[in-house]
Amino acid sequence: MSEKEIKLKRDKTGRIIFTKKMKKEYTILFPMMAPIHFAILGKVFNHYGFHAELLTDTSPEIAQTGLKYIQNDMCYPAILSCGQMIHALLNGNYDLHKTALMISQTGGGCRASNYIKLLRKGLEKAGLGFVPTVSLNVSGLEPNPGVDITLPLIRRMLAGVIYGDMLMVLKNQVEPYEVHKGESAALVKKWQDELCDQLLNHHGGYSNKHIKANLNAIVQDFAKIERDGIKRVKVGVVGEIYVKYAALGNNNLEDFLREQDCEVNLPGMMNFILFKIDNRLIDIDLYGGHRIKRMVINWLYRYATKIQTMFNEAIAEGKVFQVPASYQHVKDLDKGVNGYGNRMGEGWLLTGEMLELAESGYENIVCTQPFGCLPNHISGKGMIRKVRERFPNANIVAVDYDPGAPKVNQENRIKLMLSLGKENLEKQLSQKEEK
Ligand code: SF4
Repeated sequence: MSEKEIKLKRDKTGRIIFTKKMKKEYTILFPMMAPIHFAILGKVFNHYGFHAELLTDTSPEIAQTGLKYIQNDMCYPAILSCGQMIHALLNGNYDLHKTALMISQTGGGCRASNYIKLLRKGLEKAGLGFVPTVSLNVSGLEPNPGVDITLPLIRRMLAGVIYGDMLMVLKNQVEPYEVHKGESAALVKKWQDELCDQLLNHHGGYSNKHIKANLNAIVQDFAKIERDGIKRVKVGVVGEIYVKYAALGNNNLEDFLREQDCEVNLPGMMNFILFKIDNRLIDIDLYGGHRIKRMVINWLYRYATKIQTMFNEAIAEGKVFQVPASYQHVKDLDKGVNGYGNRMGEGWLLTGEMLELAESGYENIVCTQPFGCLPNHISGKGMIRKVRERFPNANIVAVDYDPGAPKVNQENRIKLMLSLGKENLEKQLSQKEEK
């Protein structure tokens, strides 16, 4: 079917406009990153009349498709997320003239703001230039009549993020210790279904009252799972957001660490959201900005902080699980280590999360670094010495991820770090016994 026949509307730059009619008729594919969170967030979009579908394929051909259609020098997350979408279109499972792609634009200075342009170039190269690409952002970039980023949608999204954080954090704290294997995974599934139902089919699930009730109920459910009480090596994972969360990006790092009998701690996604909002306030402090803009951003910052506070309080009130640090605490820890103007990529937050993990007992840390990601090499690998100056117990390994890096090499480096972690744990346990 030619472009004329399917009557695509384009703007001055040639970008295909995603119309209201398309919203009704098109399936919108979006790439995987954090599986627990994204399964919930997809349903938030569908509540507003979209037909959003999360891509779950993790086959090795995705990286090859990315390398073929996206410039080889691009950072690895761009290659994988764009590769996953183009691969899905090429594998013949979708009506190409009724499918669109959605990807986020951070609106910052890093390349994550430009993945969408790379995606369009890749689509052209693959003969799919007629597939609309939708930018998901709150900065007003690339508006489309078929996509309204409204306040209720933002509130539902923030609720989805905090629910995802809660399920991920508790699963990670319970799963290695569970006596009856599979109970935490089953509970995650049960709660995902329940929360998706609330956010998709009802008008609830995102008010403060609902969030609080749901978070408390999740904590209570996880507290009922019987645990063996055996001490295990605690490992924190930090890094560029995509390779930190996406199994496709980090060669199933979480599963690998579980196989090594470790407890894994992945800091929550709400920290990253707060970091992105806070950056806009810091920019106004550093470079100036309109009073009204500051008021709006400040409101959003306080709103997201309130949701994170409810999350921390729910865990604290349960009196069973370790309470993750708040965004403000991570920021305070980083004072004097990084300037808060260091905001490209994960910026100062990456160092802050290493400091927080070392402080809270997760001193064994994997710092995941994608190929081509200069900002996170600076605030990740480049800051390890600084973190060790503050926390000499920090046992950190920086691991590079790229299409050519052999998995076995990555795992061997992590095993080396874990052997020291195990030694340290044994020492701590024997010291306790002696006392
Ligand atoms: S932070 Fe790194 S991975 Fe993310 S867009 Fe920037 S360079 Fe790429």
